[in-house]
Amino acid sequence: MNRRGGSLPPLAEGFVPYQVERLRQAFPILAQRIYGKPLVYLDSAATSQKPQAVIEAMSRFFLEENANVHRGVHYLSLRATEAYEQARAKVQRFLNAAHPEEIVFVRGTTEAVNLVAQTYGKVHVHAGDEVLLSTMEHHSNIVPWQMLCEQSGARLRVAPIDDSGELLLDELERLIGPRTKLVAVTHVSNVLGTVNPIQRIVELAHAQGARVLVDGAQAAPHLKLDVRALGCDFYALSGHKMYGPTGIGALYARRELLEAMPPYQGGGDMILSVSFEKTLYNKPPYRFEAGTPNMVGAIGLGAAVDFLTGLDPIALAAHEQAVLTYAQRALAALPGLRLIGTARDKIGVLSFVLDGIHPHDIGTILDREGIAIRTGHHCAQPLMQRYGLAATARASLGCYSSEQDIDALLAGLAKVQEVFR
Ligand code: PLP
Repeated sequence: MNRRGGSLPPLAEGFVPYQVERLRQAFPILAQRIYGKPLVYLDSAATSQKPQAVIEAMSRFFLEENANVHRGVHYLSLRATEAYEQARAKVQRFLNAAHPEEIVFVRGTTEAVNLVAQTYGKVHVHAGDEVLLSTMEHHSNIVPWQMLCEQSGARLRVAPIDDSGELLLDELERLIGPRTKLVAVTHVSNVLGTVNPIQRIVELAHAQGARVLVDGAQAAPHLKLDVRALGCDFYALSGHKMYGPTGIGALYARRELLEAMPPYQGGGDMILSVSFEKTLYNKPPYRFEAGTPNMVGAIGLGAAVDFLTGLDPIALAAHEQAVLTYAQRALAALPGLRLIGTARDKIGVLSFVLDGIHPHDIGTILDREGIAIRTGHHCAQPLMQRYGLAATARASLGCYSSEQDIDALLAGLAKVQEVFR
């Protein structure tokens, strides 16, 4: 087991080194030119690009399988239902969850967190209770808890980080007490790239009887995941960050928790029977999937899981770490550049500021060079406040990112500095 809560297989015999150029060919969009320049896509933390296999799986569904799921007795409906449930089983295996019923399809991480806050949270979090977050949370792992606290009279507490962007575990431990009902923490920060020690956090929370929700939006594309090894109660992810489509994601929750949770939204498919006097709810996961689900999205997510698990996890991690190290060294050497987020355990997210140059200007000038990065607060305003910043520039890596992309970024940043000289 590695400290990220995932177990990495030993190096296979006949190990083939990672071939990024070949892999890039699986992503048709990357072959584009932008303003006459080759596209350099360094915004994968916002959304990843999609491999041909995902695009094809989704178009095949529309061409050959499309029908509503769980409802029809006809051939296509049965086939669509089978494909939809197979996608659920793929996500189950991807997360190493014990049962497919522990996977609820949602729109994405945001909806997963809202679902837990408004179902589990409503039942278990009361006035005087506490919900513990960390400073590095994305707004989607802050606002739903704030809403719950406003509704229930519970209190939001926040575990601090150090300057490098590492969670202060002693402080976190101090903040977990008998009033803590839930700890909601990100596995990987979308601004800092920090990989949090989830297993340890779970141990600390469980020792006080608190449940743990992990925001896995940024972890899923990079880390080998194992929710049982992590020990968490809830795990949320977004398809579009992990080479799948938008509008689909998954919530993992342990079966006994899901079984005891009230429904989220009401409608078709989440019921066993309806009368005007009383409605009986369906069992999980269907209880939490009201209405016609995003069937093609689920198929696309299943294909994305196939794509990711088809990559050698050791080779992928080694490649992404090599590009990250190359980028960190090169950026740190640029005069006037400050990296935000230098945790010891981090993945390929590079936030930075340049002396005297607004991040939006950096982004705009780089764009004209065909380089896509993100600028702004990255939906993490409390974290920005922690660093005394309104915004940063952020380059983020995917499985297709290469050292050439970083060279292009460096050349682009030299142009930015020239403009402002
Ligand atoms: N959590 C983190 C760490 C993220 O980076 C994001 C998106 O950027 C989210 C949650 C929200 O994901 P989504 O917008 O797909 O629901």
